[in-house]
Amino acid sequence: MNRLLLVVIVALLAVLPALSFTPAYWITHLNYIGLASLVVLGLVLLTGVGGLTSFGQAAFVGIGAYTTAYMTTAMAWSPWAGLALGLALTFAVAWLLGAITLRLSGHFLPIGTIAWGLALYYLFGNLDILGQYDGISGIASINIFGVPFRSGRSMYYLIWVCVLLSMLATRNLLDSRPGRAIRSLRNGGGMAESFGINMAGYKVIIFVYAALLACLSGWLYAHMQRAVSPSPFGLNYSIEYLFMAVVGGSGSVWGAVVGSALIHTLKDQLQSLLPYLFDSKDNYELIFFGILMVLVLQYARDGVWPLLRTWGGALGFVRDQRNAPPPAQAAPLAQRKRPDSSTLVLEVSDVRKEFGGLVAVNDISFSLHAGQIMGLIGPNGAGKSTTFNLITGVLPATSGKVTFMDERLDRLQARDIAKLGVGRTFQHVQLLPTMSVLENVALGAHLRRDSGVVSAALRLDRAQEAELLHEAAVQLERVGLGDSLYEQAGNLALGQQRILEIARALAADPVLLLLDEPAAGLRYREKQELARVLSQLRDEGMSILLVEHDMDFVMNLTDHLVVMDFGTKIAEGTPQVVQAHPAVLEAYLGGIDDDIDDAGSGAGSPDQPTPAAQHTGNVA
Ligand code: ADP
Ligand code: MG
Repeated sequence: MNRLLLVVIVALLAVLPALSFTPAYWITHLNYIGLASLVVLGLVLLTGVGGLTSFGQAAFVGIGAYTTAYMTTAMAWSPWAGLALGLALTFAVAWLLGAITLRLSGHFLPIGTIAWGLALYYLFGNLDILGQYDGISGIASINIFGVPFRSGRSMYYLIWVCVLLSMLATRNLLDSRPGRAIRSLRNGGGMAESFGINMAGYKVIIFVYAALLACLSGWLYAHMQRAVSPSPFGLNYSIEYLFMAVVGGSGSVWGAVVGSALIHTLKDQLQSLLPYLFDSKDNYELIFFGILMVLVLQYARDGVWPLLRTWGGALGFVRDQRNAPPPAQAAPLAQRKRPDSSTLVLEVSDVRKEFGGLVAVNDISFSLHAGQIMGLIGPNGAGKSTTFNLITGVLPATSGKVTFMDERLDRLQARDIAKLGVGRTFQHVQLLPTMSVLENVALGAHLRRDSGVVSAALRLDRAQEAELLHEAAVQLERVGLGDSLYEQAGNLALGQQRILEIARALAADPVLLLLDEPAAGLRYREKQELARVLSQLRDEGMSILLVEHDMDFVMNLTDHLVVMDFGTKIAEGTPQVVQAHPAVLEAYLGGIDDDIDDAGSGAGSPDQPTPAAQHTGNVA
């Protein structure tokens, strides 16, 4: 967002309460918006970015509020000690709850948080020491350097400083190494694991982060109200926070403030308006929220903030980042030691994969040496991609052994295999379409630096970040995408997206590179360029295993070929040997005695119906 606009907004927020004619009512209203913004900010990260839904945020607000309420009244602690204990408790509970429910599939977190929210609500309401449903009153005000924050106007400053700092921290976090991992949680889980990113770990992290923000909001609330009771921490408030996140735009930190402000103001207005209209004091506003939610999901699925942003862009308030200069020079990242040429890098022995009754990979064996490009070819459905998935740990093998540089891979998880130096691309491109090309590639270099959430939120990670981005830019330059660094990855042509995946795999500094149909969708020139890059990598000692249907490309580039059909290895050898192998001709051409090169450039349509013709078509 434009800095000037930000300064204007902050200045306006700052002077508003100081003006004596500002009604106290406004200040209270803004205070509530600020308190909600903190909670919703957590949901932006958790739900909007991470794709996880929690119905327990109000309960975390309750922990923050009740901990400080009890400790400062019954134990005469200072509010700061109350905050520290509240955060510690929240951390422990959120971590435990997250660790238990996040390992399980999608629905367990929402259900777990509902159960947790209800349980805590009734606990607050039934515990004698917490004053049951009457709650706790007579809470002291917060003191900073002897200055008490008693009035709504002074609390206003405290609340909004917390909101702005939390927004800043969250924005910093999203724009960092751990932030990229968090942004890949929603759509890129499998891919991210293949780059060594611990998805379950990051899910727990954002769950805890969101809970801590809610706890902070509760602490401020307790000392603003000077009293707490269970009702604001019930399930309906958790749902309201989710409303705010969705309406505001759950993908952006500004969405949190916009959503909180909109829903709060609307609720306020409706509460004073509806009793006149319906002549009753029932909570009719919920019906309106329901309708609003349907409308938002129908017409502005990403919430209101992206709309405001688009209008802001039209008015020149939002800068176009696409023409920004490339990232600054930075120290190169340390490189893994490459094995000496012709060392045995990968050995696949009798690897088998069954999907129910289907034998997708039938006791396949082959080996690959350093500085070699090996092709894995065969008709569609031959089991090539499955073999890739077995090597990279995406799928567990039914039996057999995969050894990489003296390490057994077949018992490891994808992310541990990535750590050893195996990089890959995917047959069905897996990238984060709304992230920039540069950031997508930087995701590949995740394991080469270690900056964490705290250092990212505090912006102490800039040196590391510069190194990662520089590395990403170097790899993009190398594969010929140096001109599209800041383009959204989803805007690239499919062939370019495949090339992006190669750059991302290279950013991981692999010893072994697995490329699944890298040249599909490329034009002739681009294929030649790709072949040049791959030969250069081979000369640098990289080992490459590639699946490709373009026979010209494969025959010219590879040193060794393995041919599969129906899961079984039918031939192996140099391209010359394989081309003349009768079993290969049989597999590709259904027994027609012809040169395989002709099949490669043959005009067979991929949609031809007979099995033999299908095979021919798939070669082209
Ligand atoms: P290729 O990459 O050589 O075209 P694949 O490895 O994708 O072939 O597929 C090999 C066979 O295994 C195909 O028959 C395919 O339908 C089947 N297959 C692949 N993945 C799965 C899966 N996850 N579940 C069941 N069958 C699968
Ligand atoms: Mg495949």
